[in-house]
Amino acid sequence: MAVLRSAFIALSKNRALRSFSESSAMGRKLSSRFVAGMELDDALRVAEAVNRQGMLVTLDSLGESVTSEVEAHQAAEIYHKLLDAIAARKLNANVSVKLTQMGLELSPELSGGIAEALARHARATGNFVRIDMEDSSLTQVTLDIVRRIQALPELRGSIGIVIQAYLYRSQADIEQLLADGIRVRLCKGAYKEPAEVAFPSKADVDKNYVRLAGMLLDSPVYHGLATHDEAMIAAAKRFASRLQIDRRRFEFQMLYGVRRDLQKKLVAEGYSVRVYIPFGREWYPYFMRRLAERPANVLFLARNFFRS
Ligand SMILES: Cc1cc2nc3c(=O)[nH]c(=O)nc-3n(C[C@H](O)[C@H](O)[C@H](O)COP(=O)(O)OP(=O)(O)OC[C@H]3O[C@@H](n4cnc5c(N)ncnc54)[C@H](O)[C@@H]3O)c2cc1C
Repeated sequence: MAVLRSAFIALSKNRALRSFSESSAMGRKLSSRFVAGMELDDALRVAEAVNRQGMLVTLDSLGESVTSEVEAHQAAEIYHKLLDAIAARKLNANVSVKLTQMGLELSPELSGGIAEALARHARATGNFVRIDMEDSSLTQVTLDIVRRIQALPELRGSIGIVIQAYLYRSQADIEQLLADGIRVRLCKGAYKEPAEVAFPSKADVDKNYVRLAGMLLDSPVYHGLATHDEAMIAAAKRFASRLQIDRRRFEFQMLYGVRRDLQKKLVAEGYSVRVYIPFGREWYPYFMRRLAERPANVLFLARNFFRS
């Protein structure tokens, strides 16, 4: 399994395959299980349908590392349009943003300025911006940017962050974020990290996830637990029930197209569930990471592809 995982991670970085897949009709059809569509309107339609099923939404305009300031501003523009469209259509949705798409690798000031402008727009439309977490070389700068924006009194509560349970540093980061009152999404972590910075064994990542989820649930701030792992979800439910934490004081988060059965079950039990809905033409690296998480998805996709 580890070999297949590494193979998909390597394929996710293959430029030739990426450009072929993103421009082919077959590639788009295959990706539709995990990606809401190529255009903003596709994503809004899917978001409406997910809302109708009693679930919250976070929208992600796909795309990673940009290579110019102009591209960073173009990527930000889509998010400004999204925030307006969410307000106009009265969707129960917020947005998830990657700082590399906003020029982080060109200049932290550029991406920080763009994130701040998005947080201002979110505040003005009663919304919230979640900054996704990328690989460990970007953890500190991402934390610094989010903490700076949260420290602006007029933007307090308009921005949140993601913490990855596979990193050794995450407990200390959560302590700091809780002191700052910043909303956290806890996930296991999707990048390939060396043993110097991240737990190599899944059992240790899972143990850390449960420990960190407990810290979040025990705080007065509203947080998100992003996982499809039933053991993590069961542990969080047990913890919340022992501490008599209301089911609406936190949310579970899952990816569009993954464990839809579990999403519906949690809603029926009275928990809040947010679905992460990605859209856009640059779907290939995202799609490959989903296959890396569960190589069996390849068989599943192939079966559906030939059936339809
Ligand atoms: C809402 C959301 C936001 C995220 N944001 C980030 C982020 O900002 N940064 C980051 O590094 N990572 C992010 N991730 C990804 C995360 O780090 C994990 O890589 C991913 O969620 C898989 O871990 P898991 O907790 O589901 O558990 P795993 O232990 O990987 O999986 C547990 C079980 O869940 C099911 N499952 C998991 N993945 C899939 C899949 N692709 N298809 C079908 N079934 C699956 C399987 O049944 C599997 O056995 C996010 C995940 C979610 C749900």
